[in-house]
Amino acid sequence: MNGSWSWLNALIGSVINKTIYTCGTATLQIYDAYNQHRLKYFGEASIVSILQAFITIVHPVSLYTRLVSISSEALEHLVYASLVYLLVCLIIYSVISRSKTLRSTRLPWLSTRKRILFVTSHPDDECMFFGPLIYTLTAYTDCIVYILCLSNGNYENLSCKRREELWSACQNLGIPEANIILVNATNLPDDPNVEWRTETVANFMLHTVETLGIQALVTFDREGVSQHPNHCAVYYAAASLCLTNLLPKDCKLYALDSINIVRKYLSIFDIMCTCVMSKYWCLLNWQQAAVVRNAMRQHKTQMKWFRCLYIFCSRYMFINSIREVNLADIELEMQIQET
Ligand SMILES: [Zn+2]
Repeated sequence: MNGSWSWLNALIGSVINKTIYTCGTATLQIYDAYNQHRLKYFGEASIVSILQAFITIVHPVSLYTRLVSISSEALEHLVYASLVYLLVCLIIYSVISRSKTLRSTRLPWLSTRKRILFVTSHPDDECMFFGPLIYTLTAYTDCIVYILCLSNGNYENLSCKRREELWSACQNLGIPEANIILVNATNLPDDPNVEWRTETVANFMLHTVETLGIQALVTFDREGVSQHPNHCAVYYAAASLCLTNLLPKDCKLYALDSINIVRKYLSIFDIMCTCVMSKYWCLLNWQQAAVVRNAMRQHKTQMKWFRCLYIFCSRYMFINSIREVNLADIELEMQIQET
């Protein structure tokens, strides 16, 4: 029996020896390879120092310090860039508004359009949003400016006062009394919660355009500057007239550009963005803008504290930009809305 088990013991011993030898050789090879790579990438640094360096990098305090350092650097660059932008805008504004050769308006259609109708939703829209454009146009002797205000501003039951305020503001802007049309319709209340029917608004507009022989109709765009539903409703009505070809052939439709909230309160510092992004625009110097501010102050019932800030901070008190609305634009907008 002993003789028969001896060969098995020898075999098992040989297998164990072979395995230990192979594992040992493999371990030595791995260790050599590790050492070679460590020397290649980390030099003479020990594994302990490498681990310490790694822990230092990923440590929350270290990460926070690095983040603060990067953020403050980025913030510094941002501040410098903003200062340069503001300075350039200030220079452009000063040069354009003082220069006698450089034009502060870019309205090429002005020479061919003499009878211009502004369609607004509420008394005070003409100053708050269209002031620079109205002021610019009324300064031209051969330009006749009309205003169609579609509601009497009865949101706080102050329609009588607001009517007087509208008349007074328009006088400041240079619009004759006879050229003001104030609609007093129960189905067009000054109320953001009431949807104005497109057909009703379009009928008022079309009737005025045809009666007065209007050549350019200026109103809000799709966003209505402040996204007030009554403002947007006026654009949709004007767009529907364009879409159904009901506007007279010699009457063009123009929409006041709505801009984002940052640009909206950049005051004169939006001039660079406007020059780059808009085709038609006009700019008032400080004295001219004072006339618009004064017109806005005629809306005494609306002069809350934030409006006092608005007349100095809003870009719409100094700069207006508009774009011509044509059939292709409206069809494209409709396609985008559908998708
Ligand atoms: Zn309004």
